[in-house]
Amino acid sequence: MTNDALRPILNQLKHFAAISDQEGVFPEMEFKLLRNAGLLHMFLEKHPLRFRPGQTAGLLDTLKMIGSASLPAGRIFEGHVNALQLIDLFASQAQKDFYFSQVFESQSLFGVWNTQDRDGVKIKELGNGQYQLEGSKNFCSGAGAVACPIITGELLQKGTENRESGWKSGWKPGWKPGWQMCVVPAEKMKAVRTDGTLWRPLGMRASVSYKMDFSGIVLDQTDLIGPPDAYYRQPYFSAGAVRFAAVQLGAAQAVQEETHQFLRENDRADDPFQKARTAEIACLVETGNLWIKRAAAMTDTWKWSPEQNDKLVAYMNLTRTVMNEICLKTLALSERSVGLRALMQPHPLEMIHRDLTTYLKQPGPDAALTSAGNYILEQQTVSSLWQ
Ligand SMILES: Cc1cc2nc3c(=O)[nH]c(=O)nc-3n(C[C@H](O)[C@H](O)[C@H](O)COP(=O)(O)OP(=O)(O)OC[C@H]3O[C@@H](n4cnc5c(N)ncnc54)[C@H](O)[C@@H]3O)c2cc1C
Repeated sequence: MTNDALRPILNQLKHFAAISDQEGVFPEMEFKLLRNAGLLHMFLEKHPLRFRPGQTAGLLDTLKMIGSASLPAGRIFEGHVNALQLIDLFASQAQKDFYFSQVFESQSLFGVWNTQDRDGVKIKELGNGQYQLEGSKNFCSGAGAVACPIITGELLQKGTENRESGWKSGWKPGWKPGWQMCVVPAEKMKAVRTDGTLWRPLGMRASVSYKMDFSGIVLDQTDLIGPPDAYYRQPYFSAGAVRFAAVQLGAAQAVQEETHQFLRENDRADDPFQKARTAEIACLVETGNLWIKRAAAMTDTWKWSPEQNDKLVAYMNLTRTVMNEICLKTLALSERSVGLRALMQPHPLEMIHRDLTTYLKQPGPDAALTSAGNYILEQQTVSSLWQ
């Protein structure tokens, strides 16, 4: 059902993506289409594709399709899905009812802003169930349009030992310090200072991934999501990488399509070298599809045990690693097949090239690969690695 709603709007999404490819422009029309198609609440309770076992393939297919039409929209949409999934996993029922109703009733856009520099966010307990934010987040996709972001920060509780003067030692019962998620309510977002001057990337301009300064915002206890460190809980944290891998694969598929059209329209399809590269690209994209399919199947059949967690995390780390390679190789082959026109506006490949090169930059690629290698070497034998 997801993609029945999505398929008819893909060409429009693609059309608007070319228009939105400017500094300081949020993909407004793209999100109007996604909202009207009911995509924003597609994964929530009561909906057939809600976050339940067996739905991962549908979710990844949706992400891939959006990514094939617009990588910035795909990135922002992926953040929305990530936020709703974190709420589904870790929020109380009252919080879920509240936030999900905002998506159903107001079509509110969510996001997850975790990345930060040295001036990152601290969440300071003030007492009486209140917390004050201090610090900034970087690369906040959808800045200005995300109504309710989940942000993360170091929780500093009264009575806990930490680096801040005036904060005494001794743990508060039931609490420990850690990396805390919270939702900044829409009405408080108006006071957050946005700095778009640093966002001057090669591609993904329309993801408007700005720096946001949350200093001075006061939150209530009810804005805190889950216990400290829930954000990094495995296998959810690493397994989430399959979502951005699906968006990236969508772009690789778009590269394949554009290259295909170019070769046919320009009478270059009879050349043996073009045929060979076309076959190589087809191998790459299909390999990506098979990895995503298997990753979806593994997620849906995954059983709750530490051993299974490690296996799933390793598989997802491999999936994102493979996808990175697939996308880079597909771009290089397409570039050789199409030539200079692939790197010139207004050819669609020019924008996809910039956007995908930028969006392939995801955190800790070496750590993802070596962690998967470590898991594999811990096994007695490799004969049944992923069974
Ligand atoms: C378009 C776009 C939108 C984004 N939107 C969001 C968003 O909405 N929310 C959000 O939270 N983030 C967002 N991000 C940030 C994203 O999640 C990553 O943090 C960011 O892209 C990291 O890229 P990087 O290449 O600098 O990664 P890095 O992790 O810095 O990797 C760069 C290189 O350094 C290596 N490396 C990493 N750590 C170490 C280390 N400790 N020691 C030695 N080597 C190391 C890596 O393996 C790699 O080789 C966005 C990024 C992009 C591109």
